[in-house]
Amino acid sequence: MNITILTLFPEMFEGFATNSIMKRALGKGVATLKVVNIRDYTKDKYGRTDTPPVGGGAGLIEKCQPIVDALNANKTPSSHVILMSPRGGTYNQKTAQRFAQLEDLVIICGHYEGIDERVNSYVDELVSIGDYVLTGGEIPAMAIADSVIRLLDGAISKDSLTDESFNNDLLEYPQFTEPYEYDGQTIPDILYCGNHQAIEKWRRKQSLSLTRKYRPDLFAKISLSKQDKKLLAELESDETPKWEKTALEKGKKFMKH
Ligand code: SAM
Repeated sequence: MNITILTLFPEMFEGFATNSIMKRALGKGVATLKVVNIRDYTKDKYGRTDTPPVGGGAGLIEKCQPIVDALNANKTPSSHVILMSPRGGTYNQKTAQRFAQLEDLVIICGHYEGIDERVNSYVDELVSIGDYVLTGGEIPAMAIADSVIRLLDGAISKDSLTDESFNNDLLEYPQFTEPYEYDGQTIPDILYCGNHQAIEKWRRKQSLSLTRKYRPDLFAKISLSKQDKKLLAELESDETPKWEKTALEKGKKFMKH
């Protein structure tokens, strides 16, 4: 997949592309990332890309010409062009999954007070990353590029993607690391029992419970299976369910603590 970012601040992407998983994924050719300086395309003799708004008002607005010329020079017939904008649909994991299917994604970053309204007619979609205003579209573009690239084959292990938050509208279950006890808090014994089915069942129950607690909006969208309903009912009881008791009993030999 090719991702092209049009921005007035290309240096902001240097750290993004040269660290951690992005560095590795880009290095392996999982995706290409091209950062284009919109200023390189201005026809203004003083190199300007922005001016005060017509009709008066605060700040500077990015002009059409440099953005549209930068876009035309860098898009391909298969490009899906998105403009970072507080007006857009709110970005989420489903949109990330949709973008990860694309061959070519072009992201336009606005800056200053925003961009000339007429640029909207050159893009396929407006995208917002949430109901707050940032100084520019660069951080939203990084959020999108990161969340899309990590979904591509070869970026991270497939297993890491399966149980992640927002897959099937569920939040991820709690994760723990050794030691067994830290500052008086212990790891649930079931995770040491060695019975993978029981561990999976416990994790599903935790995911359902956390989603219901923290994201009732997502929880309302889940079509609960018979098993899910049973697991949720177990949460209402103080008793450890039979399947968990059996797994704990049989798994005792694996528990070092
Ligand atoms: N005056 C604009 C308004 O009130 O909607 C805000 C402009 S903002 C300071 C400058 C640029 O940052 C925008 O053109 C857009 O590209 C980007 N931006 C700011 N907040 C954003 C958000 N929540 N999602 C996506 N892009 C955002």
